[in-house]
Amino acid sequence: MYFQCDPKENVAEWDDDRIWAEFRSRVNGNGFELKEGPVLEKMVLPFRSFVHTPMRHGNLFLAGDAAHTVPPTGAKGLNLAINDVKVLFEGLDSHYNSGSDALLETYSDRALDRVWKAQQFSYWMTTMLHTPADADDFSRARQLGELNSVVSSRHGRAYLAEAYTGWPTVAS
Ligand SMILES: Cc1cc2nc3c(=O)[nH]c(=O)nc-3n(C[C@H](O)[C@H](O)[C@H](O)COP(=O)(O)OP(=O)(O)OC[C@H]3O[C@@H](n4cnc5c(N)ncnc54)[C@H](O)[C@@H]3O)c2cc1C
Repeated sequence: MYFQCDPKENVAEWDDDRIWAEFRSRVNGNGFELKEGPVLEKMVLPFRSFVHTPMRHGNLFLAGDAAHTVPPTGAKGLNLAINDVKVLFEGLDSHYNSGSDALLETYSDRALDRVWKAQQFSYWMTTMLHTPADADDFSRARQLGELNSVVSSRHGRAYLAEAYTGWPTVAS
């Protein structure tokens, strides 16, 4: 779990009680209560979005975070890394077992198709759920309006579920 803080924050100043208090203020309520325990690892992570194209240089193939990063808001980084490996495996398998390089030639484009969709989803989630330091009252209210319109609409919820999991929902 994570919450937004100033990227210049000193993590040493955040003991477990302070961290749990932040989480409680954000998610407890409406009958929901977090189960608390020891915090095993903590860090201040500056968000970053990056894509290296193409994901290949000669015989060097890039996969996972070496080629692209997304903010953790969409929980997509590890999923993208696994997809890259699956797509790259298909190309290597075809190269070594069938003597065809066609799938290796298209590795970068096929992997990037999913990467850019995940970039878009992560960007959308980040701009909806995180507040820029210089946000004014209007932009905060607009963000809440956006969040409300997603959770109160069947199509909004379906899009969120589908983009988050990568699986089609019943509604679609
Ligand atoms: C706080 C946080 C929360 C996240 N939450 C999610 C989530 O909910 N869902 C999700 O899908 N993704 C999430 N991610 C992203 C996910 O962890 C990464 O996208 C994923 O681990 C990338 O896998 P990778 O194999 O490309 O790189 P890594 O997991 O970074 O693996 C690279 C490995 O290479 C090793 N290495 C580095 N340099 C060398 C070297 N010179 N020689 C040998 N080995 C080396 C490193 O030690 C490391 O083990 C999160 C990331 C963070 C930081």
